[in-house]
Amino acid sequence: MTGLDTVPWGPFVSVLSGVVGLLIGSFLNVVAHRVPRRESVVRPASACPRCGHPIRWHDNVPVLSWVVLRARCRDCSAPISWRYPAVEAATGLLFAAVTWVVGPTWALPAYLYLAAISVALSLIDLDVHRLPDAIVLPSYPVAVVLLAVASAGDGDWSRLLRAAVGGAALYLLYRVLAFLYPTGMGLGDVKLAGVLGLYLGWWGWDALVVGAFAAFVLGGVVTLPFLLVGRAGRKTRIPFGPFMLAAALLALAVATPVAQWYLGVVGLSAAV
Ligand SMILES: [Zn+2]
Repeated sequence: MTGLDTVPWGPFVSVLSGVVGLLIGSFLNVVAHRVPRRESVVRPASACPRCGHPIRWHDNVPVLSWVVLRARCRDCSAPISWRYPAVEAATGLLFAAVTWVVGPTWALPAYLYLAAISVALSLIDLDVHRLPDAIVLPSYPVAVVLLAVASAGDGDWSRLLRAAVGGAALYLLYRVLAFLYPTGMGLGDVKLAGVLGLYLGWWGWDALVVGAFAAFVLGGVVTLPFLLVGRAGRKTRIPFGPFMLAAALLALAVATPVAQWYLGVVGLSAAV
């Protein structure tokens, strides 16, 4: 996979994708708020939680409206959390980055879908310590269809087979971990692992290995300071989903150089 750095109009496609990401991010705010409450993400239209006034379309422009409205409802001046524009901006940046790494290929829709559920699932896991089936389970057929489209476009069906192996492998790994450490690993993590394994397997064996390991490295690096300063006890349940998702997205960009570096360190570079 080459990525956009080889295409002269790559920056333009990435910026365009970033703008789409801002709009998707606005929708993901709704998803993250409503899915844990088992509410429809389509109806009713967004309204101010205090005065109930429906939000006008021109007050719903990602990031900009929040700035123009000075973080207050136009009707009742209720404060609007900075989280909304932050999620929109983060989704925009993530879409631009994923587009840069994946490139304008048949695989791009598949990996942009991964980016979108990564934002929604991370927010929900941080909020309520759950990875809802309503998002994770449909992601299996969605990922399989989008990765099949990518394989058909590339004319390389072996990647789809590798995706299936990756999905099964990561699902089983987390299944065993959840059995051994039931307090640290939830069933939601196990189900998400299968989806991530599909994506990482399609990308490459090195991505599958690096993505799987990176989740635990990231989890350790971020969690350790909290444990050291006593903000989190040993029993505090720290959501692991965000680390799994971040590691999978990171692996797309860094897996190949990391794998080469590691093989070089252990002296196996001649073997590959
Ligand atoms: Zn209001």
